[in-house]
Amino acid sequence: MKITLLGTGTPTPSLKRQSSGYLIEVGDDLIVMDHGPGAHHRLLETGRRAVNVTHVFLSHLHYDHCMDYPRLVLQRWDMGADRIADLKVYGPPPLKRMTEQLFAEDGVFGPDIEARVKHQGSIDVFEARGGVAPRKRPSPQVTEVRPGDVIEENGWKVTVGEASHVQPYLECYAYRLDAAEVSMCYSGDSGAVCRDIVKLAHGCDVLIHMNHFLSGTEPTQIYRAVCGNHIDTAEVARQAKVKTLVLTHMLEQIDQPGIRERIIEEITEIFDGNVIWGEDLMVIPIKGPALHRME
Ligand SMILES: [Zn+2]
Repeated sequence: MKITLLGTGTPTPSLKRQSSGYLIEVGDDLIVMDHGPGAHHRLLETGRRAVNVTHVFLSHLHYDHCMDYPRLVLQRWDMGADRIADLKVYGPPPLKRMTEQLFAEDGVFGPDIEARVKHQGSIDVFEARGGVAPRKRPSPQVTEVRPGDVIEENGWKVTVGEASHVQPYLECYAYRLDAAEVSMCYSGDSGAVCRDIVKLAHGCDVLIHMNHFLSGTEPTQIYRAVCGNHIDTAEVARQAKVKTLVLTHMLEQIDQPGIRERIIEEITEIFDGNVIWGEDLMVIPIKGPALHRME
């Protein structure tokens, strides 16, 4: 398994940190968890393309977690030229409705899709890419999931958990992925010390967890329950007994020299595993960092 952070930022515009996105390579599959604005650009920077992605898991439908979803679907459809399997997409309701509203004939991209399917110039490009007319419309295979669901694929499985975020307005999930002798959990957006994530992530090699605030700087206690702070993040990692904690979803206010170090130090006072300050395009050492003696 290989994990690459695509976007470690928030909805706040940032050139350094794109919005949420994570890339997981396992066996022959390429899995994307969340695909916020800018995450697709980061995917390209890894050398991967939309056509390489096989599965998408969306944690919740806040735009900073799903705005590049239509980009992924349309570029995969366009470049794939009907020669690759349909994209498998999992997430909370109303993901099916959102997908319909994007790609159906009367959807947001309906006129574009009709032009590309029917105009002879577009059909010529499609055939040059190896497609055989008539051209099909994009058809991502969407499955709406619920906490407790398990998705089993070739050599890996994903278990759906519940995060503590902005329910009941949006369903908000965390995902645990287990493959041969390796496991990881992604919290989605989650605040306070979420018991469900503690349970879901139990014993994982890697927990990627939202770390929005330095404790004490949250605007309100309600906000803390929605987004948490670094002490909450540390407590989740400690209780879940994970081996490595990756901090993500970080505001510019905490991404400052001196603040970073303070956060890591205070987290390590609570959680005795590895702590990684996530950065876009970082590849996570699954079994923890290894020190090599200079030779
Ligand atoms: Zn959110």
